[in-house]
Amino acid sequence: MIKEEIWTQALDVLQKNVSTISYDLWIKSLEPIDLKNNIFYLSTTSETAKQRIMSLHKGDIYVALTSISDEVKDFAILDPDEREVYVKNVEVTVKAENQKFPGMNTFNKKYTFDNFIVGNSNKYVYFACKGVAENPGTRINPLFIYGGSGLGKTHLLNAIGNCLNEQHPELKTLYCTCEKFTGDYVKSLQGNYSAKNNFKEKYRNLDVLIIDDIQFISKAESTQEEFFFTFNELYESGKQIIIASDRPPKEIATLQERLASRFSMGLIQDIQFPDYETRLAILMKKAQEEGFVVEDKVLEYLAEHFDTNIREMEGVLMKVWYYASLIGKKSASMEDAREALKDHDFSNKQNLTADRIIDCVCKYFNIKKDDLLGKKKNKEIVEPRQICMYVICTMLEMSLLSIGQLFGRDHTTVIHARDKVTTLIEENQRIKIAVNDIKAMTQKN
Ligand code: ADP
Ligand code: MG
Repeated sequence: MIKEEIWTQALDVLQKNVSTISYDLWIKSLEPIDLKNNIFYLSTTSETAKQRIMSLHKGDIYVALTSISDEVKDFAILDPDEREVYVKNVEVTVKAENQKFPGMNTFNKKYTFDNFIVGNSNKYVYFACKGVAENPGTRINPLFIYGGSGLGKTHLLNAIGNCLNEQHPELKTLYCTCEKFTGDYVKSLQGNYSAKNNFKEKYRNLDVLIIDDIQFISKAESTQEEFFFTFNELYESGKQIIIASDRPPKEIATLQERLASRFSMGLIQDIQFPDYETRLAILMKKAQEEGFVVEDKVLEYLAEHFDTNIREMEGVLMKVWYYASLIGKKSASMEDAREALKDHDFSNKQNLTADRIIDCVCKYFNIKKDDLLGKKKNKEIVEPRQICMYVICTMLEMSLLSIGQLFGRDHTTVIHARDKVTTLIEENQRIKIAVNDIKAMTQKN
């Protein structure tokens, strides 16, 4: 339980046990400050108030607090001067801890809840993250968020960190990528006894652990084991854990079953690709933040054409603006956008071939090209084959007949595959991710 919750419940008890006058005069104005080393710290508005409360209600407060939480073994009341000293000391301790473990309580300041645009595609994930940032370790634990690349996961994780720093500066919060965790762990194994202890001290004493890109978790037994122990220890002591991934736990091939099921104990929330309106709002915000002057038409054009990745969309906005300012313009027009983007992405699609898509599908599903194009009817092959037909249909302007020929089938088979995958994408997250990933693969060199 967090201190606010303990105190709210304690107030209920106190209201029953002390006179109304005392309650209104003294108890109500107490404020919970901290719960540390089993001592519950409260603050009063004056030194006199502190003396009165201690002489009249010391026992009542003690009983109320200790009856509500096992974590509370004693309490202390601070008058305004003492409170100031106390808060300063906490800040000093937090700073000292930070120096010991670089990166602790450090987040990308650019990413906040305020500058995250909320739309239908991401509202649930947004509220889940906000809830966790405001009440860490209480309701949603662990929080697992997932969604395609460039859809705002890292942004939200840092927003949680920044919000925690502001509202709960006393908490030890760590944001790290899965790679960093693994790196730290491997280093600790190579080091001496104190290196091993350092690792444990760093990760197991946290109040909030935020892990990004967990899909890169190494297959290595020992890393998964360490992660498992860290997870359990934090979870069992009511510490908040937040994890981000590009796919749901069950689809991370390298993730052990026991970890996947741990991740499913809290809330798993996906983040979808934003609709046009949200994309436009994101571009407007970005332009405003960076001081880009860009005609509305350009923003609309970009929002319309970039329907796979926000990061890429922002990169292109930047490109257009730099192009315009380079040629001395004060505002970027549609003409500048066309010129700046003439070699961009859109043209990539023109170079794309069916062969390339077939290769990407084979690579993605780890199957042989002969099988994909062959006659096998088992699910492991049929599904990728249908997805492949679908991707070719949607990305290339090829006739159904010639797509069929690639697979030695007629056009009705292609139509069936296309329609089937269209429905599957709506219903099945795994298929949706696969299609998105494959489309993205075809665009990479
Ligand atoms: P991910 O971690 O999911 O790959 P990021 O969090 O790095 O994606 O987001 C990529 C870029 O898109 C960042 O600059 C981020 O600020 C921006 N972005 C994504 N979604 C939103 C949103 N809803 N509002 C504002 N910016 C967003
Ligand atoms: Mg990210």
